Amino acid sequence: MELFSANPQCQIDWLDDPLFIAKEVEVGLLRLDQIDPLISGNKWYKLKYNLLSARTQGLSAVLSFGGAYSNHIHALAWAGKGLGLKTIAVIRGEPEYAGNPTLADALKWGMELHFVDRKTYRKRHDPNYVEQLRHRFGEFLLVPEGGSNALAVKGSAEILSPELIDQFQPSAVVLACGTGGTLAGLVAGNPSLNILGIPVLKGGGFLRNDIASLLEESSAEPGNWNLDLGGHFGGYGRVSDELRTFIGQFKVAHGIQLDQVYTGKMMLRLMQLISEGAFPAGSRILAIHTGGLQGLRGMD
Ligand SMILES: *Cc1c(COP(=O)(O)O)cnc(C)c1O
Repeated sequence: MELFSANPQCQIDWLDDPLFIAKEVEVGLLRLDQIDPLISGNKWYKLKYNLLSARTQGLSAVLSFGGAYSNHIHALAWAGKGLGLKTIAVIRGEPEYAGNPTLADALKWGMELHFVDRKTYRKRHDPNYVEQLRHRFGEFLLVPEGGSNALAVKGSAEILSPELIDQFQPSAVVLACGTGGTLAGLVAGNPSLNILGIPVLKGGGFLRNDIASLLEESSAEPGNWNLDLGGHFGGYGRVSDELRTFIGQFKVAHGIQLDQVYTGKMMLRLMQLISEGAFPAGSRILAIHTGGLQGLRGMD
């Protein structure tokens, strides 16, 4: 079947944990990580309408931005190959990174990698810089860093289908946030749902504005969402011993692998919030496993 022609069916695993029993809450994990081994998680939904629109606009190439271990870049390379689109990535960092598992895959799938220093990377929103890139690489659809734009919101709005919400009636939905695009999509799709985002970067408060802008751009209702800023555990990409130990224990207890950048932090913070009593007895919490497992390779 062609990529993006139908949305994947994802299972929810209800987790058994003494803490949940003690606090009288239920916690289910929506397994977006199982969508596809190569384009897993929320990036499937974020890329869907972006790449389909490249096609309808008659564009044969897509360019985006990311770090050397980016799940977005990895997913873009695979999806672009699947749809017959040329992909180009502007990568923040040294060309030596081309050997890491994320970028080795991307190269194998035909992505063109363009390495830039931090200063150049910061110009990614500058129209003159983008013009230079067009001069160099030809016409392309530009997808922003992390894939977050109105089309990503439209795609992410489909993560929680009306049937799924009807069936499970979650009192809260919890997910990790990088750029906040996925959260904006969940809000746009279901404005009455109670949604909690856990930024994995320090000082994630700026995401409030970014999310509000994405919602406005998408003509979505303001919704019912909040951010908890206590789950960055040292900052973006930082892996503490506490986090590493937690991910290992979670895998033993539940048979589910979490990643170190996003879902491990989300779940560790969620457990802390539950033990602090942040969710009233009787809560049905739906946490989202947004994927990211490809990034575990070579990132120790
Ligand atoms: C990209 C990513 C996120 C963050 O998504 P945003 O839309 O940028 O907030 C969360 N989890 C995983 C595994 C990701 O790869």
